[in-house]
Amino acid sequence: MPIDPKLPYDDDNIFAKILRGELPCKEVYEDDHALAFHDIRPQAPVHVLVIPKDRFVSWDDFTAKGSDEQIAGFMRAVGEVTRLLELDTPGYRLMVNMGGHGHQEVPHLHVHIFGGRPFFQMIGE
Ligand code: 5GP
Repeated sequence: MPIDPKLPYDDDNIFAKILRGELPCKEVYEDDHALAFHDIRPQAPVHVLVIPKDRFVSWDDFTAKGSDEQIAGFMRAVGEVTRLLELDTPGYRLMVNMGGHGHQEVPHLHVHIFGGRPFFQMIGE
């Protein structure tokens, strides 16, 4: 079920628990702003999620309330992860699902990084 992106931040969401070390993840990268880990149900040869360390429900929440430092730090972290995964030469796809129509399921902002093959279709059902 997609989340309601206008609800307050839920400290019990699954990514908050991963950030606190209460649940395991296959970590790829960590810095002051972000944590990156492999998606539990990969939909491409490379499928990594990057999440901010701060409490933001969604892309909408982040871009409305995040400070310039938080936004810049997070965006740089996403770029770092793509280079660490050596996706910068072959290329990759980024995706952010936001709210109901975006079918966002976890109420903590996350950027999907897809790589390891070409993506011909712009968008699916
Ligand atoms: P959304 O639809 O919210 O953009 O995507 C949520 C993503 O989180 C899905 O791709 C799903 O497979 C992934 N996910 C859900 N729970 C877990 C988890 O406990 N660990 C990891 N690594 N990924 C998860």
